[in-house]
Amino acid sequence: MKIKIKLIAIFFFIFQPAIAADLPKEIRQGSLVIGQSLDADEIIVDNNFIKVSEKGHFVFAVGRDHVEPISVTYLKNGSLIKIHQINIIKQDYDIQRIDGLPEQMVTPLDDEIIERIIYENDLIKEKKKINLNLTYFKDSFIQPTEGIISGVFGSQRILNGKAKSPHRGLDIAAETGTPIYACNEGLVIHAEDDLYYTGGTIILDHGHGVKSIYAHLSNVKVTVNQTVSKDDIIGEVGSTGRSTGPHLHWGVMVFNTYVDPQLLLD
Ligand SMILES: [Zn+2]
Repeated sequence: MKIKIKLIAIFFFIFQPAIAADLPKEIRQGSLVIGQSLDADEIIVDNNFIKVSEKGHFVFAVGRDHVEPISVTYLKNGSLIKIHQINIIKQDYDIQRIDGLPEQMVTPLDDEIIERIIYENDLIKEKKKINLNLTYFKDSFIQPTEGIISGVFGSQRILNGKAKSPHRGLDIAAETGTPIYACNEGLVIHAEDDLYYTGGTIILDHGHGVKSIYAHLSNVKVTVNQTVSKDDIIGEVGSTGRSTGPHLHWGVMVFNTYVDPQLLLD
């Protein structure tokens, strides 16, 4: 009897599709959600149509502060197949409140630097909008460099009651020159030696709006339009841009929504 049950279990295990047809019923804030539908040709996440690949793959992000349940609507030829609801599990973020700091210790930036920052921000904003048909995002992600985790996703400082923008990636402290690998196969859509805030910066596109960013590099070893795989060294750790010591800032986003890179490694 026991053997029979085992055999049935093995049978089901072998014939399961690689990606579960159904999405989870609950998911953590800051997650990347990857699904596959073998019958839907259109997917709506809340009110937004998202790209569905030829093999039915799709992806979306749950933001750091997202609280409302998410509804995923599956359509074929315009008619409803099903609606799947996902509840959100709240994350505890590291919030640091520091009061009683002397006011305005920061020297104001001169016009030339402000212009440069605006130009560079616009450039990055345009890259975030790119929506390629690649489906590299469905493969597993790796941590791009070895080192000590020195900053986690979502942490935030509140200085004299004023909330600073939350940390949108994972910081990995390592010696200058430590190799950095692509976290997944991707197309290089940005490679720059010296941006004001992020210094040596690379952005890889993994398809359907999923991108990874690598900042403060001492050495950028790739060029735009190059395709890289997980084993490829794309650059080296540094402390360029606005940085207080050598580390890699690694971020992952879907269009404008950043996700927690650590959740991709679980
Ligand atoms: Zn960082």
